[in-house]
Parts: sequence; C-alpha cells; structure tokens
Amino acid sequence: DYACAPIVIIGTGLAGYQLARELRKLDQRTPLVIISADDGNNYSKPQLSTAFHKQRTPEQLVSHTARQMATTLSAQVLTFTEVTGIDTANRCLTLKSGLQNQQLQYGKLVLALGSEPIEVTVGGNAAGCAFRINDLQDFQRFYTATSGVKSVLVIGGGLIGCEYANDLVQSGFEVHVVEPQAKPLGSLLPEKASELVEKSLAQAGVQFHLGTTVDSLEYCNGGVRATLANGVQLEVARVISAIGVRPRTALAKSMGIAVNRGIVTDRYLATGIEDIYALGDCAEVDGHNLCYVAPLMAGARALAHTLTGTPTRVAYDNMPVSIKTTLCPVTVSVPPRDAAGEWHYDRCDNQGVTARFTDAQGQLLGFALAGDACSQATHLSEQAPPIMQ
Ligand code: FAD
Repeated sequence: DYACAPIVIIGTGLAGYQLARELRKLDQRTPLVIISADDGNNYSKPQLSTAFHKQRTPEQLVSHTARQMATTLSAQVLTFTEVTGIDTANRCLTLKSGLQNQQLQYGKLVLALGSEPIEVTVGGNAAGCAFRINDLQDFQRFYTATSGVKSVLVIGGGLIGCEYANDLVQSGFEVHVVEPQAKPLGSLLPEKASELVEKSLAQAGVQFHLGTTVDSLEYCNGGVRATLANGVQLEVARVISAIGVRPRTALAKSMGIAVNRGIVTDRYLATGIEDIYALGDCAEVDGHNLCYVAPLMAGARALAHTLTGTPTRVAYDNMPVSIKTTLCPVTVSVPPRDAAGEWHYDRCDNQGVTARFTDAQGQLLGFALAGDACSQATHLSEQAPPIMQ
C-alpha cells in the first residue's frame, strides 16, 4: 500500500534537510525517511571555504548531528547508507550499509544527491594526491592533512578555488593558484571585476599562475612538485583540486530516469517517473542546473507543498551569487547563456567595480559587483529579470 509508505529523501545536504524542514511545517504525520551515504550531520557547505580564517574546526561546522535532526524532524535518518538501486515499478530502493543490503519501500521519492567534484587529469606519481573538498568529511581530511604544513597549490581559479585561496592565504599559508583562463573567475565576471579580485588576493600573497595548467604532480621532499604547462615548477606541501562540480546523476540514469546535465525535472521538480522528484545540485529544473543555495531553498518550499497535495511550481527570482573572496567580495548575477548584450562599467577603481550587462534596448540582464560596490546588490537585483518566472 503506497499510501502508507514513507516519503523518502535521498541526501542530507542542504537540499535534503531543507525539504524535510519545509515538509514538517505542513505535515507532521507522514512517515519520513532520510538517507545519506555520509554521516548525516547537518552543516552549511558554504562555510567550508571560510573555516580556516574563522578558525572553525570541522567539528564546529556541524550544527546538528544526524540523531538531533531525526528528533527535530520526526524522521528516520539512515546514515552511512548508500542507495544503490531504485525499482521504479515496485517503488522499492536497494540500500547498502556496510556489507548489508536491504530493501525499502517508498511512497514518494526525492533525489537530493548533490554534485561531485570533477577529477583533475594530470600526470606524475602524485596525480591522485589532490584534495577535492566538496563535503564536510572531505574538509576534515584536508584539515587534518594541513596540520603543520605551510603551502598549498589550488588547481582552478573559479569560485571555489578563489574562495579557498582567499581563506588559506589569510590563515598564514603560502598559496598558489593555477588557472587556464587569463583571469581568476573568468567565466563568471567581466575583466575589470576579475582584475580587482586578482589584485586584492595577490596583494595578500596569493601567487597566480594564469593562462596555464598543471601538467604533472610528483612526490618530493615530503610534499609535491607541480610542473606547469608553461614550464614553471612549484614545490608545495598540499594540493587542492577545484576545477568544478557536476550533478550526481549516475544512479538516476541507471534507473532509466531522464538525465541531461542534471536529473531532468519539470517546474514541479518531478522527473518523468511517477512520484520521483529531484532537488538541489543534482536537479536540472526546466533547463536550469544551478548549484547554489538560493535555488534549492525555493525548490524545497515548492516541493513540500507538492508532496503534501498542493502541486506548486517553483519560480526563481533573480538570484545573485555572492563569492566569499572576503579580501575583495563579489556579487554576480550572471547574464543568461547566449544573451545578446554587452558589459558596461559604471565604476572601476581600486576599491570597487560596478558592471552592468545590458541588451541593445538597455534592459539589464546581469551585473557584477566587486569590492565595496557589493552594497548595490539588492538595488540591481530588483531591476534584473527573474531566472524562471
Ligand atoms: P550535497 O550537500 O552535496 O548533498 C548530497 C547528499 O546526497 C549527501 O548527503 C550525500 O551523502 C547524499 N548522496 C549522494 N548519493 C547518494 C546515494 N547514492 N545514496 C545515499 N546518499 C547519497 N552556494 C551558495 O549559494 N553560496 C555560497 O557561498 C556557496 N559556497 C560554497 C562553497 C563551497 C566550498 C562549495 C563546495 C559549495 C558552495 N556553494 C555555495 C554551493 C552549495 O553549497 C550547494 O549548492 C549546496 O550545498 C548543495 O546541496 P545539496 O543538498 O544539493 O548537495
């Protein structure tokens, strides 16, 4: 009897837990099971890239344990449990916990599987040594490994790479960043805004190696020697790889659920299979795969209504992204892909940059603010179009 079977959420990241909170606001009775491959502790992922400078240990980043979440949410939280199969015809999940396999019936199923870091491909005997820090357990491993060491190479000068560089350099590490584009944050920002970030981080000590890539990593002197494509060699103690993330889609794909960049859903977050939904980094909602907090909050609110009997479409306002390069903060509302238009600078000095992306009619389609210009974010965001009305 599917009506009595629980709502099952796979994932205890911000998406999974936020949905559970929203659900419990509307319905305290339907059985709820939340499953995680990890320890199920509740933490805010964005805090990983500011923790060193704020002197917060991995333990201090845990806001609630899985057990506390289970009590607060009147839910069963299954930790260290991987979902390895979904029998969509019989609404049954295969769970793997240690050596044990078990089955679980669901009434409604939500995939909140997150995203996974893209693996860097380099040569050398230390090719596998780079830390990819995408969850609290990854951060714990990196945190332990940096005890007593002085230098870190960050591969990738995008959002996450720049945030880690910003954090580590202010915490006393010698920091190198290798980025193939000519500027850090080059895919998100117009040139002058990138330049101000680069200058601010460089002044604090970050050494940028731009327009080049890492060819190889070799163990040497207890650390690693990186050889760059431009011939430069760097000796560092630890390496972080931050070249991007991709939605976790393998499980859905293998079960016949449609996948494009992310798990394909409509505006109700419904996949093509009855009573299976997707939310958060893993979801591609009506063509939008946005790996940020604001979209998953909007999605969780709408989906909670849908799951409790009031089908509700998700809408995305204009949702600017704040980049926590605290030495030069950035807020950016990236123009829609393929939008015709140009960047204009309203302001460009050593303290701040204001750039607006407008079309031929002068309509604002996006903006980028750096340094003390970030204070204009709310004002500009109100004028920019919603992502999905
Ligand atoms: P996740 O947190 O990745 O959760 C996925 C969950 O699914 C995990 O519990 C995992 O164990 C579970 N899971 C996966 N597969 C299985 C399986 N087969 N079986 C069981 N469980 C499974 N966004 C912002 O908006 N602002 C920021 O400032 C910001 N800063 C960031 C800084 C860093 C360093 C990083 C890495 C990201 C940042 N982001 C930021 C992005 C934001 O953190 C993510 O969009 C958000 O946390 C994604 O949440 P999620 O629940 O979708 O995924």
